[in-house]
Amino acid sequence: MLGPVRPTPYDLYFSLFGIPVRINPFFWAMGTVLGWRAMDDGPEFLLVWLGCIFISILVHELGHVFAMQYYGIPAHIILYHFGGLAVPESSRGLTHGKSIVISLSGPGAGFLFLGLINIVEKTVFADGFPNTLTKSAFYQLHWINLGWGIINLLPVLPLDGGQVARDACFLLRLRDPIDVATKLSILASGLAAYFFFTNGMQYAGFMFGYMCFMNFQELNQGPGRY
Ligand SMILES: [Zn+2]
Repeated sequence: MLGPVRPTPYDLYFSLFGIPVRINPFFWAMGTVLGWRAMDDGPEFLLVWLGCIFISILVHELGHVFAMQYYGIPAHIILYHFGGLAVPESSRGLTHGKSIVISLSGPGAGFLFLGLINIVEKTVFADGFPNTLTKSAFYQLHWINLGWGIINLLPVLPLDGGQVARDACFLLRLRDPIDVATKLSILASGLAAYFFFTNGMQYAGFMFGYMCFMNFQELNQGPGRY
């Protein structure tokens, strides 16, 4: 739906647990825009914020890739302006049930990571944080892994929750599963956009407004879509 993420000369490549990872420069650009307010406290706070979204999104995508590998599907990771992508090399043998497990494994990995953060906080930093920078890092890690994890589970395509809803529609043998999932996406993203805008979360409101528009367009493209 969002199109391929084309390589640029400024992409960063590395491999983690044998999984190829590519980072598009717009990942850092969007992260900087999102976290610009951190500059009020100093550039080191912006760097901490970038580090937190980098680690958190990587953990999330690793969750998807580990689940794909469990089903024998190799995959790679791309970090870009919209967050992260776990891209399977093939979809052979993929069922809707397996696809649901793969979709849930991303947020699941984030929630496990959140548990680990809580343990570190309660043991290593039981007497408080040594400085405001460390405190800020833990605050961000909490918010990203809990808040984004929950938001990502809303039944809105192309979010993980939307993928789960779409696969569930197939499993329920609905007559036009993609149509139902797309209409559900429009309804849920519209409500979410309204909620975020009226609660002062403009960026999230804009993102859900955009997804609402994308799904509305998808609905009007008619047959021939996959
Ligand atoms: Zn995901």
